[in-house]
Amino acid sequence: MQALLDVRHLTISFHTYRGLLEAVHDVSLTVNPGETVGIVGESGCGKSVTSQAAMKLLPAEATEYTGGQILWDGRDVIPLSETQMNRLRGRDMAMIFQDPMTSLNPVLTIGNQLCEGIALHQHLGRKACEAKALELLRAVGLTSPEKRLHQYPHELSGGMRQRCLIAMALSCSPRLLFADEPTTALDVTTEAQVLDVLKRLQAELGMAVVLISHNLGVIAQMCRRIYVMYAGAIVEEGTADDIFYRPAHPYTQGLLASLPDPAQKDKALTGIPGQAPDLFHMPEGCRFYPRCPQAMKACMTAAPPREEAGPGHHYTCWLAQAAAAKEALP
Ligand code: SF4
Ligand code: MG
Repeated sequence: MQALLDVRHLTISFHTYRGLLEAVHDVSLTVNPGETVGIVGESGCGKSVTSQAAMKLLPAEATEYTGGQILWDGRDVIPLSETQMNRLRGRDMAMIFQDPMTSLNPVLTIGNQLCEGIALHQHLGRKACEAKALELLRAVGLTSPEKRLHQYPHELSGGMRQRCLIAMALSCSPRLLFADEPTTALDVTTEAQVLDVLKRLQAELGMAVVLISHNLGVIAQMCRRIYVMYAGAIVEEGTADDIFYRPAHPYTQGLLASLPDPAQKDKALTGIPGQAPDLFHMPEGCRFYPRCPQAMKACMTAAPPREEAGPGHHYTCWLAQAAAAKEALP
């Protein structure tokens, strides 16, 4: 099966007033048709940059695609023009962002915003657009959808606004939906409802979803395969079971230890000490070295190799080779 999205060794830099900044380093990931893939990591780790790069949404004048390819249906989109990309966006790929208040236009009714998107891609008349808008609002489970059509964003709750954004992203039936922290601005109950909507729509429409979150718990509920990012690079990838039950990378292990465990209410939560490195001052060797509880001398100077922990389960770390070398000792 050909992957829908196949990112190969992607490296992206930004022109900043302090010079060229590498935001994403040698990232490879695939998304197959209909599958839900998670990208997890702390803020600033490059997960949003990676997904925005895949849709070529990064500011063109400030962005340098320093290496790699972004294959969409087997075709590299990096050299494509804005006109060519516009044909793909919406129809083939769409994105919903974290903050529904700033992503919605405050002076247009929900109905008008939805119709604008539908009309742009589907060339339908006014009446047909409105019918389609209503159908979408029903699909995302909004109560009283007829009323919502005529309301403005500020008249709706955060959860309702996020449902509207999902409806907008779905208006052209994309084959791949990027959801970047779609529930971060919501309370826990509303978060669960919005995730349910996404899960149901994904199953009904058979579209692929890339869910981006700093919250491993959210990712766990939704995704079959997970990529863990740290400081601009992927440090581990595997199935949800690999990541949750057999995490191999010390960073993933740290993320898991910082999750509350309902079965052990008294367990103290241990965060990962320290901070992610400043991208301008990336440590030599392993990027996680300054915070890693298992760091060794080799980690300081040489970038770690990508190791296989099991079928489809990979991590970038020196630990495997160190263990093998120890075993080899007489
Ligand atoms: Fe820790 Fe070394 Fe592995 Fe990096 S390579 S995660 S510093 S053990
Ligand atoms: Mg982000």
